[in-house]
Amino acid sequence: MAKDQDCLQCGRCCEKWGWGQNGIPGDLAPWIADSRADILQHVSIRFADGRRANGAELSASDLPAISKIRYWVGPGGRMLDHCPFFLKGDDGKAWCRIHDTKPAVCAGFAPWADIWHDYALDCPACRDTAP
Ligand code: SF4
Ligand code: SF4
Repeated sequence: MAKDQDCLQCGRCCEKWGWGQNGIPGDLAPWIADSRADILQHVSIRFADGRRANGAELSASDLPAISKIRYWVGPGGRMLDHCPFFLKGDDGKAWCRIHDTKPAVCAGFAPWADIWHDYALDCPACRDTAP
């Protein structure tokens, strides 16, 4: 299988796996530093002592106390069944509205990589994936 293949921006991976994912504190640090409340408001936080919070309430000093980070939530903390940053353009192509600062779980996902093996996506860029 080729190591690098070209994403065709069909959006299937974001539609199927772009929600209900776990985050890491390293995702949150730049969002806090850059006051990205537009992103942080969609993050669910649980601390090691059991407290829960919305990402928009966090400061950098809270990061070491976090035990779980979940993507994504809507108003009232309800888990979403879609990614709020996913866009389908008029040309049918998928776009990430936070591409430059997307979480590690998204940045590291390449369906053609050996560890993923397409993962039931029927990814059109995974042309060399064995059946
Ligand atoms: S499923 Fe494949 S081609 Fe479609 S957006 Fe994801 S990586 Fe790109
Ligand atoms: S944050 Fe971006 S890359 Fe991640 S699921 Fe949403 S649209 Fe896709």
